[in-house]
Amino acid sequence: MSKKSALVTGASRGIGRGIAIELARAGYRVAINYAGNLDAANEALGLVRAAGGDGFIVQGDVAVAADRARLVSETVQQFGRIDLLVNNAGVGPKVRADLLDAGEESFDRLFAINLKGPYFLTQLVAKQLLTQTPDSNGFRGRIVNITSISAYTASINRGDYCMVKAGLTMMTKLFADRLATQGINVYEVRPGIIATDLTSGVKEKYDKLIIHDERGITPIRRWGKPEDVGLAVRALAEDRFPFTTGSAFDVDGGFGLQRL
Ligand code: NAP
Repeated sequence: MSKKSALVTGASRGIGRGIAIELARAGYRVAINYAGNLDAANEALGLVRAAGGDGFIVQGDVAVAADRARLVSETVQQFGRIDLLVNNAGVGPKVRADLLDAGEESFDRLFAINLKGPYFLTQLVAKQLLTQTPDSNGFRGRIVNITSISAYTASINRGDYCMVKAGLTMMTKLFADRLATQGINVYEVRPGIIATDLTSGVKEKYDKLIIHDERGITPIRRWGKPEDVGLAVRALAEDRFPFTTGSAFDVDGGFGLQRL
């Protein structure tokens, strides 16, 4: 049986890289998208190969329409079909600014990369998936959107980030509803606080909140790892939830629990 294939945006580093490696362990071939960090992308490809998979690297800015079209066409050219899209690429605000001062530039940047990019990439990929014949599990493909606990948690020093992540939650529901009868399930995976370059600048703050505070902000008192998110995406990629679509899966050490 031929290997399944995935397009993972922002797979050169952090969570995307962790996802690519777990997919490789599940036998997937992976299109490793990156924005500008060629060395990191090559390193990720090496790790994917070491994990028993294969793939290729593909530069592209998800905020740019022509790049999105190229990501899809190159993936189809290399693999023949797309079995899984993971919308992972994302950025935080360059400066965390109070809600009353935050500027339009940051707003526009975050909406373009974190919401407009995945929305229109999903539209393109969905059209490709609809041309594909269903696989042995009856699926034409699957789509996973990486959101965040910020989709439902207010952080008043990065409102733009919270809003785009909440938007991705709705995007998941919309595409899930639209594609459910056509053999395509759509999922949201909601990471908590994960150790990557994105959070390296606030390491001390979260070390304190997670580990050193008496109670801990998360019941499971450690930082999340990219691999933790990768394992959740892998379960979805392996069709462990065939009767579920439009739902969110928390990978957050219990952050979302209401505690007394
Ligand atoms: P990261 O370590 O900063 O990695 C970001 C990845 O996205 C890199 O591969 C980067 O490529 C790529 N990227 C950035 N802008 C891009 C663009 N315009 N087009 C295509 N690729 C782009 O971030 P991360 O922590 O792994 O975060 C990954 C996703 O998880 C994001 O959506 C983030 O919001 C979400 N998330 C993270 C956390 C956390 O605690 N870390 C928690 C919840 C959700 P280059 O290497 O080429 O720059």
